[in-house]
Amino acid sequence: MATIGFIGLGNMGGPMAANLAAKGFRVRAFDLVEAARQRAQEAGCEVVGDPREAVAEAEFAITMLPSGPIVRDLWIERDLLSAVPAGCLVIDCSTVAPEDSRALARAATERGLAFLDAPVSGGVAAAAAGTLAFMCGGEAADVERARPVLLAMGSRVFHAGGHGAGAAAKLCNNLLLAIHMIGTAEALQLGVDNGLDPKVLSEIMRASSGNNWSLEKYNPYPGVMEGVPAARGYQGGFAVDLMLKDLNLALDAARERGSAVPMGALARNLYALHRGADPERGRRDFSSILELFRRSAKSL
Ligand code: NAD
Repeated sequence: MATIGFIGLGNMGGPMAANLAAKGFRVRAFDLVEAARQRAQEAGCEVVGDPREAVAEAEFAITMLPSGPIVRDLWIERDLLSAVPAGCLVIDCSTVAPEDSRALARAATERGLAFLDAPVSGGVAAAAAGTLAFMCGGEAADVERARPVLLAMGSRVFHAGGHGAGAAAKLCNNLLLAIHMIGTAEALQLGVDNGLDPKVLSEIMRASSGNNWSLEKYNPYPGVMEGVPAARGYQGGFAVDLMLKDLNLALDAARERGSAVPMGALARNLYALHRGADPERGRRDFSSILELFRRSAKSL
């Protein structure tokens, strides 16, 4: 089985690397945080002392990092690309701006290395279950080469187009996700303010034209569904700060192309209002946006 260098072992990268190790890949892993390194070791990865060591013997070098500036800093400014052996396929699974992916693709190409942007959808539960969807940007042959590795961490691999297309597809999806999560929270709170049971209202809307993923799979109202962040005080899941990051990236991409994204801009501003200056709110799951509507409600 191939050797994989894996950098960034957080909420997503940790279970992704664990799935690769469980499927028999040799995973040489690194993270800045000791607790993340410890978990990776327990999951069967070979934990190494720095990022260069992680990629030194890699046939596939994967990063799953918080942001585009961090990805660029590591691969380009700190020149991690120079530590990658010839023939290695570099894959960035982080959610970043399409321009960050294209910059990394150019830097990799200059060194004769192949690159894919391959951000994911599915969240922490899908990362743990190995059912992520990958949206790839790059050459078709490289997508095919990466497919067995990606399918060890997910269940679907899409080829969105050239370099940066995976990153762009991810931003479009998250823009829509933010919008339907906010709409779902708004409708549920309106129902509760008018005396409805949120469980009954959810059932009605799921069988009606208001049905959507946020309502059906990730209900934001506490007590409606088990196993979702709303059932555990909005802990874990996909942080408000990460959703804000993605919405800001989507707005940047829209500005560059002159696209009109009025709903996305409103979603970004509602999330900023919800978070305020409170880092604790920023760390909670994005379905906690429900509380913005709860705070504004009059009791019956
Ligand atoms: P996270 O903050 O839990 O994990 C990021 C990890 O990267 C941390 O463990 C951190 O220590 C490590 N790190 C940061 N800089 C590093 C460096 N220079 N070298 C080595 N390690 C470094 O974030 P996450 O939730 O795992 O998200 C990772 C990426 O996946 C983000 O781009 C996010 O937008 C995207 N994403 C997240 C979700 C989700 O539900 N959490 C879903 C889809 C996509």
